[in-house]
Formats: sequence, C-alpha cells, structure tokens
Amino acid sequence: MTPGKVYLVGAGPGDPGLLTARALELIARADVILHDRLIPATALDGARPDAELIYVGKEGGGPSMPQADIEVKLVERAMAGRSVVRLKGGDPFVFGRGGEEALTLLAAGIDFEVVPGVTAGIAAPAYAGIPVTQREVASAVAFVTGHEDPDKPESALDWPALAAFPGTLVFYMGVRALPTIAERLVAGGRPPHEPVAVVERGTLPGQRTLVATLADVAERAREERIRAPAITLVGPVATLHADLAWLERRPLHGRTVTVTRARAQASPIAVRLRDLGAEVVEAPTIRAVPLPAELPDLGAYDLVCVTSPNGAVELFRRLDEAGLDARALAGTHVAAIGPGTAAALADGGVRADTVPKRPVAEGLVEALDSRRFGSALIVRAAEGRDVLVEALRERGTRVEVLPVYETVPDPLDPPTLAAAAASDYLTFTSASTVRFFAQAAGDGALRGPRIGSIGPATSAELRARGVEPDFEASPHTPDGLVAALVTDAAR
Ligand code: SAH
Repeated sequence: MTPGKVYLVGAGPGDPGLLTARALELIARADVILHDRLIPATALDGARPDAELIYVGKEGGGPSMPQADIEVKLVERAMAGRSVVRLKGGDPFVFGRGGEEALTLLAAGIDFEVVPGVTAGIAAPAYAGIPVTQREVASAVAFVTGHEDPDKPESALDWPALAAFPGTLVFYMGVRALPTIAERLVAGGRPPHEPVAVVERGTLPGQRTLVATLADVAERAREERIRAPAITLVGPVATLHADLAWLERRPLHGRTVTVTRARAQASPIAVRLRDLGAEVVEAPTIRAVPLPAELPDLGAYDLVCVTSPNGAVELFRRLDEAGLDARALAGTHVAAIGPGTAAALADGGVRADTVPKRPVAEGLVEALDSRRFGSALIVRAAEGRDVLVEALRERGTRVEVLPVYETVPDPLDPPTLAAAAASDYLTFTSASTVRFFAQAAGDGALRGPRIGSIGPATSAELRARGVEPDFEASPHTPDGLVAALVTDAAR
C-alpha cells in the first residue's frame, strides 16, 4: 500500500479568521487529524464527519501525549494509506516541534507538506496594536522560548546575548517565567525602564494587554492576574499599544453577550456583535421539528405564501421526497415573507414573485394588496399567526394552511447554560425566546446578566416573569437591539 501524506499545518493563534485557506482545505479533506489544545475553537468544524480526530494536547493542565507517541501515531496512520493533518497552534515550525515530526516522517519514507500558520509571537502583538518591528525603533526581532524541550534546562538560554540583542524580544513563555526574564535581561544590561508588553489570550475574545517595564512587569502581571497563554514582548515598540490598541478599543471588547435563537437560524446579531468585539454565546433554545404534513398539489393554488426560511426548506424537502422539484410551483404566484425566506426559496430554484419591504405578515398583506387570488396555500410553522390567513379570506381567497414544522423548546447543554448565566448580557428577539430560555435555564438565569429586549412584546414576556429589561431596542429590529446594547455598554 502507498503511504498517505502527512500535512504539518499551522492553525494560527486562536482567532478562527487567521486559519489559512490551505489549512481549511486540508482539514476538510483529511482522513485523520491530530490536533493540539491551542487551536481555534471552530478549527475542526469543517472536518469530514467520518474523519478520525485525535486530541494530543494537554488535558486540564495535565501532561500532553509524549512526543514519541504522537510521532508513532502520525507514522502508523500514514502507513495505513490515510491522509493525515497534524494541526498545531500558531506556526508548526515555530516552537511547535514540527521540525522533529518532519524528520521522523522523512526517516519513515512518508511524504509530507508544511503549511505555515500565523505565529502567536507576531499575531498577539499585532492584535494588541504593537508592530514587532518599526522603523528607527526596532529593526530586528527575536523569538525566544525557554522550555520548548522539557529535558532542556531553562538556563540553556544565553541571557547576556539576549540582553544585548539589538531589537524586539518576543518570549513564548508562561507568565511564571516573567521574574526570570526581567531579572536576567536587566542583569545583562537592558535598562530597568525598558517597556514590556504581556498579551494574554492574544487574538481571542477577552484578549488583555499589560504594558509595564522590566522593573515592574512581574509584579504588575501578578496583580492583574495575567494567565496563560501569553506572549511577552520586550522593547520600545511595546509603548505603541497606548495609541494603536485597535482591538481592545472596540465598543464591546471584553463583554460576553448571550444570543437566544432558534437553532436552524443563522444569527446576524451574533455576527454584528462579534464585529464590535463581543464574545458571543449562542444559546439556541428553540428547534424546528418537521411535521408529517402531506404535500397537496401545489399547481392547484394561485398563490403560495412561505412565511419563514425553514418553511421553504421543509417545502423543498417534501417536494424532493415526492420525486418533484421547483417546477411544481410553475405558474403559481410565490410570496416570501422577507429576504431570508426569499433566499431559502432561491436556494431551491424559485424566485419569489413578491417580497414585502416590511418582513411581517402585515407587510405581506400590503404587498399582495392589489392582487386577487382565487386560492392560496400558506406554508408555515404550526404556531403561526393568523393575520395573513384572515386578510386573504376577507378578499375572497380560499385559504389553506400547510403547517410543515413546529418549534419546540430545546434544552441547553450545561456548558452553554453556565456560559449564558455568567455572561454580561442576555438578548431576546421574541417573546418565545424568553419563554423557551426561561424553560431551559430557569427564571434564575435571568437575574445575573443585563437584559436586552427587541421590543414591547418581548419586554412584556420578561415583565411577566418579574424581570425588567435593562434596555429595549428602538427601532425594534436586530440592528436596533445591537445599537441599544452598545449604548448600554458605554454607560
Ligand atoms: N507554534 C506556536 C507556539 C507554540 S509554544 C506558534 O507559532 O504560535 C506555546 C506558547 O505560545 C504559549 O506558551 C504562549 O506563550 C504562546 N501562545 C500561543 N497562543 C497564544 C495566544 N493566543 N496568545 C498569547 N500567547 C500565545
């Protein structure tokens, strides 16, 4: 059997956006992925469902899998003809032992490829607004670690040479090493007032940067409870953080916001909040369950209204099961309640004839106003509103409702529940999300965080549970809710 290939792939420092296109492509193709702890949380989302995922990092601060065992696994899997991705935090060849693995693969006659990653020593400072080089300030940069090889004593570092280095020093070392770093550099001749930056959780939500001097950095880091992972940078460029800290200055940086939503829906609110710097907890408390509805002959209706993206998905699923396709709607006027539903219809090959400006039942009624339809089918959730049905009937249309799914409460898993209860903000976009969240998490979970409501109906549901929303969106839209939250956070 021809051995498979091994890809030594860098996953970047933590922000999923810093995974390279090549890394994502290889992750999606791999038969086997051996991965470390410090990789982006979503890095493996694109892996094949049947891929073998092997975690080889540290479990809760315990020891990681011995390097020799990792290399045995790499060789074994490749020898079995499988394509293997070895996924590492940052760059595989920067303090990542990628070189050792490559040599082992070479000795075993296994083909390999190296995919560089964005290394933490450059990315964490960059996200802290610190360029590692800067004209006339720092024209060289050194990457340093103390315990790349646990068998090597810390003193293996040539401290006098590091102290004399004419440029920025970037240490990939735990905060416990700070006193040693500071003492040895000062002993070697660096001025005690030399600026130092410690970037904690670089590129991740909640990134923190401490700027101090060699004289006081160890003490300040202890006071500020700086934790791993952290990059320590020594040199005058550290002071640029004061001016260039673009990330930590975003309006919602360091805030955790829980977004309650139905699982099937994408969350545009979550995207907006993340762009503003928030750490978002997605708490899907409702879930759509298909109903066993039989599909009537769609061609028999003059009008088909679809009132949610999920309704469109369910409609096409049923058509498909019946051996039909979009042509079943040929000759029928198709109305979508809003852009999301229109997009879901387009995915199935149907361009909606009517999409109202206001994506609510009343808007659709208005948009269909000038037309007369003999018969209409409304494809929707079991628990839909009757506004549309009644308005069409008043105009003499024969209306039938086809409930294709229902929304049911979805219990939150314990980690999501804990994260939601500990977040700074809880946001609600409908009365049903309030009900379902309270059901999943208990009324108590509504007490800690500040509460944001999208509008009066949602606020009323909160008040019914004895919770006064801290702010209500105006206008009552997702964008309005985000804007109200930003205002509240700036209080
Ligand atoms: N190959 C990796 C480095 C592995 S060594 C790379 O190229 O980035 C592990 C050290 O990297 C940690 O002890 C810490 O000092 C640093 N590190 C990794 N991720 C980090 C992050 N998100 N923020 C700050 N430091 C990080």
